[in-house]
Amino acid sequence: MHFETKSIHSGQKYDPSTGSAITPIHQNVSFQFESAAQAADRFSLDEFGQIYARMGNPTVDQFEARMAELDGGVGALGLASGMTAIAYAIMNICKAGDNFVTSRNLYGGVSNLFMNIFKDYGIEARFVDHNNPENFKNAMDDKTKLFFGEVLPNPRLNIFPIEEVSKVAKEVGVPLIVDNTCATPALCRPIELGADIVVYSATKYLGGHANAMAGMVVDSGNFDWSKNPDRFPMMTQPDPSLHGIEWIKKFGKLAYIVKLRATMLRDFGGCLAPMNAYLMNQGLETLSLRMEKHCKNAKKVAEFLQNHPKVENTVYPSLATDGTKELAEKQFDNGYYGAMVGMDVKGGTEAGKKVVESLKMFYHVAHIGDVRSMAIHPASTTHSQIPAKEREKAGITDGYVRLCIGIEHADDIIADLSQALDKI
Ligand SMILES: *Cc1c(COP(=O)(O)O)cnc(C)c1O
Repeated sequence: MHFETKSIHSGQKYDPSTGSAITPIHQNVSFQFESAAQAADRFSLDEFGQIYARMGNPTVDQFEARMAELDGGVGALGLASGMTAIAYAIMNICKAGDNFVTSRNLYGGVSNLFMNIFKDYGIEARFVDHNNPENFKNAMDDKTKLFFGEVLPNPRLNIFPIEEVSKVAKEVGVPLIVDNTCATPALCRPIELGADIVVYSATKYLGGHANAMAGMVVDSGNFDWSKNPDRFPMMTQPDPSLHGIEWIKKFGKLAYIVKLRATMLRDFGGCLAPMNAYLMNQGLETLSLRMEKHCKNAKKVAEFLQNHPKVENTVYPSLATDGTKELAEKQFDNGYYGAMVGMDVKGGTEAGKKVVESLKMFYHVAHIGDVRSMAIHPASTTHSQIPAKEREKAGITDGYVRLCIGIEHADDIIADLSQALDKI
């Protein structure tokens, strides 16, 4: 089936006990076992099924099944937030003394997790420029467990070359994990391009209405952990945390995603609330419609800003001259370039703040991926802690305003931007 069809029907089963046609909110903690034997089999993972809502819940199950289908994975795990998903996805295969190589173009929270928090726990992140895939190989050693990148990183929107980096990852025998939050599977399916594991802040476009936090990890099942067993002892050695279970031997292609649930989620406990999973299931049903409108509107906004006398520079993949446009066309569907647009307004910090304050319809919030149009001035907010020189290296000039274009009528969005720019 096609993407739009799958986003409505995947994982959907009517509830046989009530006939509910859509999956209800299973707001319960425990699940009745049919027998002592069944209880024992569930605990030893000889039978898959509900045990206790920290490890899984039928409403969350549906969200996982739908995402696994949309991304073309063998399994998925829903989590409390995007941060939880990213932290667990890495800790599932990395422990103290290990390292991983990552693109330096990352969401701020992820960058801090990698640079400071993981470091305190003995896991080292090595930051490289993703434009040259060879950088990943050059930064690695025998303790390197994975490569990481963000498909459509903001604010620079310099797209990650999934296919090229995945080739290098395959050559050296480590998995590639990508954060596909901003492109979404409606635009880009990283597994088809060679990524092994895909992570999401579902809080953004997947839910799409700024009403619930959620995270997601999708596993392609394609990475062969047993090819280099010494590099991945957490996957290949008997695990004392579950009666010496041998993940690869017992679960084959499902080993990574089953282990993620049975160790990371079981023991750190960042589970997704059933109410939030319900909202995600609903969000996914309109994902492709929303992304189409987001992207069409964003392109119109970028074209409007490109010729505006108060705007020094407009950042949008279709306008890029550094290869980003071609990469978007190769990796994204239908000639779409995403919903985020950056503008560097003339007049620096004061002008940037003035524009954001003067917008009437746009929301002034630290969020992306909502149906509403939103704006923020990073130099005085999200990136104010970073020295100006460092900030500019990351593409955030004093006059930079980040726009996340919603699904309102394009003329209304442009009219609001136009009147705000006139106030400078
Ligand atoms: C928001 C975001 C995250 C973090 O997700 P939360 O759901 O806020 O925890 C991670 N990566 C990207 C690209 C994001 O935009």
